[in-house]
Formats: sequence, C-alpha cells, structure tokens
Amino acid sequence: TKDDVKGFFIRNAFVIFTIAAVIIGIILGFALRPYKMSYREVKFFSFPGELLMRMLQMLVLPLLVSSLITGMAALDSRASGKMGMRAVVYYTTTTVIAVFTGIVMVLIIHPGKGSRDEFTKQQQIEQVSPADAFLDLIRNMFPPNLVEACTKQFKTQYAKRIVHVTVTVNDTIFTLNGSQAIAQEEMIPVPGSVNGINALGLVVFSLCFGLIIGSMREQGQPLKDFFDSLNEAIMRLVAIIMWYAPIGILFLIAGKIVEMEDISAMGGQLGMYTVTVICGLFIHAIFVLPMLYFVITRKNPFIFIAGLLQALITALGTSSSSATLPITFKCLEENNKVDKRVTRFVLPVGATINMDGTALYEALAAIFIAQVNDYDLNFGQILTISITATAASIGAAGIPQAGLVTMVIVLTSVGLPTDDITLIIAVDWFLDRLRTTTNVLGDSIGAGIVEHLSRHELTNNDPEVGNSVVEE
Ligand code: ASP
Repeated sequence: TKDDVKGFFIRNAFVIFTIAAVIIGIILGFALRPYKMSYREVKFFSFPGELLMRMLQMLVLPLLVSSLITGMAALDSRASGKMGMRAVVYYTTTTVIAVFTGIVMVLIIHPGKGSRDEFTKQQQIEQVSPADAFLDLIRNMFPPNLVEACTKQFKTQYAKRIVHVTVTVNDTIFTLNGSQAIAQEEMIPVPGSVNGINALGLVVFSLCFGLIIGSMREQGQPLKDFFDSLNEAIMRLVAIIMWYAPIGILFLIAGKIVEMEDISAMGGQLGMYTVTVICGLFIHAIFVLPMLYFVITRKNPFIFIAGLLQALITALGTSSSSATLPITFKCLEENNKVDKRVTRFVLPVGATINMDGTALYEALAAIFIAQVNDYDLNFGQILTISITATAASIGAAGIPQAGLVTMVIVLTSVGLPTDDITLIIAVDWFLDRLRTTTNVLGDSIGAGIVEHLSRHELTNNDPEVGNSVVEE
C-alpha cells in the first residue's frame, strides 16, 4: 500500500541521513582541526550535539519506567518469569564470552610488552575496596526514596571522583579535565546510575511494580492504562527526536575530532592496546553475537543488525547506551518488528546491566596494566579479574566513560595500582564509543533471541500490547 511505501522510504531516509551525518562529521572535524579551536569555540561548535544528548537523556527516565511497568503488566507471572530467566541466561553467557575473548586477545597480542618508560603520570584516583563497591551495587537496587532516585544519585563509598588526571605519553600530555572533568563532576559515577538517576534502583522497582499491577486484574487496569499511554506518548516524542538525531550526531562526531589530542603519540604500547581492544570488540560484535543469533533463531543476523543501524550509530556518537535507549526501542520495534512485550521488558534491563563491550574491555585493560607493570598474573588472579570485570560491567552506568571508573574494582581485586587507569585515558574516549556500540548490539540481539525463545508464551498471552504476529 501507499503507507508501506512511505514507511519504507522514511526508514531508509533515516539510515541514509545518519550514515551521511557520520561521514560529513568526520570530514568536517578533520577539516577544522588545523584551526586549533579554543575550548570555548569547540563547545559552541558542538552545541547541536550537546542538545541531542540532552533530548535523549530527557526521555530515559519516563521511558525506562513506563516500558518496564507496562511490559511486566502485560505478561502473566509465569511468562515473565520464563522470559526473565532467558534474558538472565543470555546476559550472563554473552558477558562471560566477552570477558573470555578480551582475556584471550590481551594474552595473545600482549600489548603491554616493554617498559613503563613510555608513560609518566601525575595525579591519582582514590582507593576503594571491591567489597564496598559490591555492597553499593546491591544498595542501589533498593532506593530508599523513589523521588530522589529519579533526580539524583546516592553518595556512596564508590562515588569517588576523578579530578584532573594528567598523563604524559611519549611527551604528549593528555588530561582528563576540561569537558571531561565537568562531565565527571556532574555525573558522579555511582554503580547503576544514569546521568543523575539511579537506573538500577528504578529498574528493580518498576519490574516489581509492573508484576504486581499485572496480577491485580481489573483493579490494576487504571495504572496499566496510565503507563501504557505514557509509554506511547514518549515513543512519539522519540519519533520526533529521531529526525534531529543525524544533525546532533554530525556535530558530536565533528566536535570530538576537532578537540581530540594529537593521535600520532599513540605509538608503542598504547597503540597496540587500542588495536587489541578493537580486535576483541570486533570478534564479539561481528562474529560471536551474530553466530549466537543465527544458531538460536536460524535467521540472518546481518539483516537484523541492518535494522539497528541508527541505534548503533547513535551509540557511536553519544558514547552512552542509556541515551541511545529510545532509538534502540524504535529500531527494534519498527524495523525488526520485535514484539513490544519483549523490548519493553528486555531493553531497559539490558541497557542498565548488560554490557558486553564494557566487560570485555575491563578485563582486557586490567591485564594490560598488569603487563605494563611486569606483574605476572596467575590463573586464580585471571579468574578474579573475569569475575570482577563482569561485576564492574553490571555496575557501570550507561554514560560516557563509566567503564573507566568502575575498573577500580577490577584492579583492586588483584592488587594492581588503581592510579594506572590514567595510562589508558588518552584513548578511552575512542574505545568507549566502540564498546558502547557493542553494548547496544548485545542488548538488541538479546531482545531478538529472547523473543524467539519466548514465542510460545507470547502467543498464549494477552496480545493487547504485542505489535507483531508471532510466527511459529
Ligand atoms: N559508555 C558505556 C555505555 O554507555 C559504558 C562504558 O563506559 O563502558 O555503555
């Protein structure tokens, strides 16, 4: 029909605009680099990008809460229990595979060979014990004040700030201050927090609340209708923002290229480290996840991934899987026709706790730091790193460079110096974008797999919320 043709064009127009935005952003960024803009000028220049970030973040709280509540309320408790189990098994399996891939890559490539002479550093990150960090993770699941959980993070032991870190690599000085320091100050990285909200706590609350509403039958109907309608309204806002997204992405990318430090210093160990992380993420995203999708669903994973393109590029542009969440919803539901009962349930949880790219990177980076320090890790220590890297990826918020901060847990667990996190700061902004893209891909493929495995429950359940015919 005419509508189909129009819809098809709109979807493809989005993808074309988005890809064009990336290309123009890169060209513009490099073209403007010779002008050596000041910090202020860069801020002005990337203002349209900052606006995109703010618009997306604005929607995260209502979207997260309303989708989880309606998602849970739409299923009976048996179906949601089964679906939840499948999601948890998927998250755990893929995270463990990611950590394993990261460890194998760093042990084979051994980027930390040589001496530490390449690095001289100043400033430190405050010490924190892994036990404190673990307790904080659990504490944050139960916010004592819900209103506060929506507006600010809790002060915890773990919320130590990184302030003005400077590191010199082959005579080039890299600093985590300026824009990054301001960002860090605004978002004290508390486990499970998204830019000012305690996402983990809200996820736990919404899951339980939705389950209860679902079990209340007609008494729960007004609440169910309310959150359904709220969810629909937010998704319509997302549809509007999606038109602006390419412009925002263009300026986010161009702005970053304009302000980044000289890349020529990235030789030696840091260069090898970057290559190792890229290889690891690439194997996970291009090989492991698509294979898993194919083996389970018997469908072409690359067609599925093509439908996600806009979400993946937004992740690359924003370095934040939470900010990307609204777009991920749109892509999965509209392009890939994943059942809304699955996306509403699986995506918010995934964006908060399932971070394959971050897990891979945390394990890899910790072992790299050990290698740079000529510190021999035994099998037990590598196992400890795998476990703490998994925990650190769960604890990392879906905000830019959160993984760099939760790495404190991993390093302390095996007695590595935590201030050595500064060694990898110079390249982190770049690797962060790649791991965020991997995180979003992992969540999305998870939704596809959970939908496939849950097709029986979905056909038996109230189809009111589902938007797709579940074929058998
Ligand atoms: N920026 C990443 C994300 O939003 C988290 C990280 O720093 O690894 O998914």
